[in-house]
Amino acid sequence: MLDLETALARLLESLPPPKAERVPLTASAGRFLAEKICSPLDIPSFDNSAMDGYAVRATDVRGARAVSPIALKIAAKIPAGEMFKGELLAGDCARVFTGAPLPRGSDSVVMQEDTLVVGERILIFDEAVLGENVRRQGEDVRQGDALVEAGEDLSPWKIALLAATGVCEIAVGRRPDVALVATGSELREAGLPLQPGQIYESNRAMLSPLITRCGGVPNVFPLVPDSLEATRDALQSAFSTSDIVVTSGGVSVGELDFVKAAFESLRGELHFWKVAMRPGKPFVFGRLGEKFLFGLPGNPVSAFVTFLLLVRPAILRWQGANKTSLPAHPGVLGEALSNTGDRRHFVRVREDATGKVFSAGKQASHALCSMAAADGLLDVPPRTTLAIGSSVTVLRWN
Ligand code: AMP
Ligand code: MG
Repeated sequence: MLDLETALARLLESLPPPKAERVPLTASAGRFLAEKICSPLDIPSFDNSAMDGYAVRATDVRGARAVSPIALKIAAKIPAGEMFKGELLAGDCARVFTGAPLPRGSDSVVMQEDTLVVGERILIFDEAVLGENVRRQGEDVRQGDALVEAGEDLSPWKIALLAATGVCEIAVGRRPDVALVATGSELREAGLPLQPGQIYESNRAMLSPLITRCGGVPNVFPLVPDSLEATRDALQSAFSTSDIVVTSGGVSVGELDFVKAAFESLRGELHFWKVAMRPGKPFVFGRLGEKFLFGLPGNPVSAFVTFLLLVRPAILRWQGANKTSLPAHPGVLGEALSNTGDRRHFVRVREDATGKVFSAGKQASHALCSMAAADGLLDVPPRTTLAIGSSVTVLRWN
């Protein structure tokens, strides 16, 4: 049985290099860059005013005070977006607004609050340190600076940086089409009445948005009853339309678990089918040409945890993401947590407002309520009790 890190490393290694496509910058949020982007220009690209006020020569207003103001002539009015063609002469100033290009001859801006207009003249009540309230060309970004590296995610704030440099189209990793196939003869679609012994299918409803969140394009397939033929047919059509196939159920050792056999009958190569973790010991990873199978256990909590720890990283890496692990942050245990088993246990935990970490409830792998109540996962090693007050690392999914 593989440990989680080995399983993950093997799985990430087998993925193909990301395929790039060009998209408009405005449609790139959540995508991963396929190229490093360097700035084509300086930002700011010209010296400009950081304030509504008056552009001056600092030497002209040296010594200005509330009690001994200095009067200057207003020689120009420069709104943001306009250029003053002339040059500011000694004793002159220019009315400027935030973002307005600084006129030639000026070197500083006195803010409006430190001035008083008297006809054509203005009284300055405060002296200016040279360069005060001026945003210098290139002080934020220099032409040629690396703005983003390949593999970085495109957050709205990085998009703003790129937009400010005039970038309008960028190369990002293509999104994988991800087929979602749920197996189990007991499963019913929502909206239909349940017959005795049947349950409503819930894994596709959970996995589909989880796939979307990490950048995949989910394609939900109809339910598959437990037979070799039905499972093979479903896998065949799933593989014919998708880059990645995620199945739920049918990967354990029972004689009604057909995913592995059906996959092999399609000439799929099984790479591994057990990972030493709880929940989620049965977990299938296989390859069919350049396409990949992730066979998740059917128990909802097992499907959830294996998706987060093994499938999410793969979907991210498939798109070229350089960071694939779950976000994590430190916490302090508000109660003792024990793992008496011989596999590491990913315990669903909740956090209170003070950052104390507690079990989210019943930890069985079919227990939906504790999963729904959880904020994160805690990796508890085998045969270990973590005492109340221990420092821990909480893995989050958002
Ligand atoms: P399996 O992995 O097929 O042995 O299923 C393990 C448990 O999970 C069984 O109790 C199934 O009824 C349940 N289960 C399997 N697939 C789903 C699903 N898609 N939605 C909800 N429960 C499921
Ligand atoms: Mg089953």
